[in-house]
Amino acid sequence: MAVWVSAGGCGLLSPIRGRLRAGRAAVLAWRVPLRAAGTGPVYDVVVSGGGMVGSAMAAALGHDVHFREKKILLLEAGPRKVSGRLPENYSNRVSSISPGSATLLSSFGAWDHVCSLRFKPFRRMQVWDACSEAMIIFDKNNLEDMGYVVENDVIMSALTKQLDAVSDRVEVLYRSRAVGYTWPLTCHLSDTSPWVKIDLADGRRLETKLLIGADGQNSMVRKAAGIQNIHYQYDQSAVVATLHLSEATDNNVAWQRFLPSGPIALLPWSNLHHSDFIDTAGSVFRSAISLLMPSGTAARQLPPSIARVEPKSRAVFPLGMGHATEYVRHRMALIGDAAHRVHPLAGQGVNMGFGDIACLAHHLSTAAFNGKDLGSLKHLLQFETERQRHNLSLMAAIDLLKRLYSTNVAPFVLLRTWGLQTTNALSPVKEQIMSFASK
Ligand SMILES: Cc1cc2nc3c(=O)[nH]c(=O)nc-3n(C[C@H](O)[C@H](O)[C@H](O)COP(=O)(O)OP(=O)(O)OC[C@H]3O[C@@H](n4cnc5c(N)ncnc54)[C@H](O)[C@@H]3O)c2cc1C
Repeated sequence: MAVWVSAGGCGLLSPIRGRLRAGRAAVLAWRVPLRAAGTGPVYDVVVSGGGMVGSAMAAALGHDVHFREKKILLLEAGPRKVSGRLPENYSNRVSSISPGSATLLSSFGAWDHVCSLRFKPFRRMQVWDACSEAMIIFDKNNLEDMGYVVENDVIMSALTKQLDAVSDRVEVLYRSRAVGYTWPLTCHLSDTSPWVKIDLADGRRLETKLLIGADGQNSMVRKAAGIQNIHYQYDQSAVVATLHLSEATDNNVAWQRFLPSGPIALLPWSNLHHSDFIDTAGSVFRSAISLLMPSGTAARQLPPSIARVEPKSRAVFPLGMGHATEYVRHRMALIGDAAHRVHPLAGQGVNMGFGDIACLAHHLSTAAFNGKDLGSLKHLLQFETERQRHNLSLMAAIDLLKRLYSTNVAPFVLLRTWGLQTTNALSPVKEQIMSFASK
């Protein structure tokens, strides 16, 4: 059984400024979507599924200047996640967020909210094998952040705020489950609707020029479109919990140890009992040492010891792998777990979903700017090609790692020991891995 734990406490650090934020024009009056004869309203884009990926997709389009005149709908089966006061206790559901994902969230102002709530950057990652002495250390000597640990609720809260900010062009329907989709013909006949029809559980019917399926691993959009999903369950579950450390540490290292029964990871959280001055002085001293002794910073460290588990913070999640053979059809695109599901050992699931958004939003924005049909396969296929190229190689690497480390048979242990030691010794290879994973 894999154990996935996050080290808890409180507190958190420096904001990234919104680098790519799209300028917003003056607030537009609410525009009622077109209504085709005998049917429901017609939207330009409907995003089905308002998890982290669907909400970010709707917010990204809502903040895009080229979508100023467009009507977007986000459908979510669950209730609105109220963004009130941050609870004192850490949630046990956290995600390791890559710098690339933080840039995407910054582009429409959500990362500023994350920073004003709480998050924890990490600058070092130590991965080692339980069956040998082999290990690999990823270290950012230039003091750049390698990634951020953020509670999923904090991300949702930030996204909800940014959806509220564009409520004039993004309508959000909570407690609204889509129960059926009807696809248009690719060649339009005058007596049929050219749009995708969506039936809601409460009997309402909507239409859209483009349907984006962000409805998770059991995606109904994917199933309704008849897209094949290659998938299997790992014989593993993830256990997550919030932990209290026994001693004060830098707490900016992500630890991961591969046991034959599955990986165990310890992600950093708060710096309780730390002062900013001591932390900064320590970082400067370490970078000075790394200049004098370039290999000195890559020394093996021991992970901190655990004092106790936060009561009622344990939860279990079955793990599996899945990949949709197609991400797009005429007037439809899949993103996030609806398109791909991975083992969390590399902390890439939602990052891949955010990568899908950056790519799809770019192509849709260009299409909107050029006055093109948003549901056209032409630009949707470009999105599919770009994302499948990235996602498939990442998924293959994650699956290979999972399988290679699930055994203690000597030839495999030897193979991975040499592999890990060689990679650890080759800085350019490590740089390449870090740059790929940080997208
Ligand atoms: C233990 C664990 C640790 C993880 N750690 C990391 C990590 O560190 N980093 C990382 O990048 N990823 C991580 N992941 C993966 C990450 O959590 C997922 O990839 C991510 O949550 C997927 O988001 P999503 O929005 O695509 O799907 P979901 O979160 O499944 O959201 C789908 C949404 O669609 C809604 N919906 C479904 N059907 C309908 C319908 N018919 N009509 C309307 N709404 C509908 C649902 O209510 C839901 O809100 C982890 C996963 C696990 C299990």
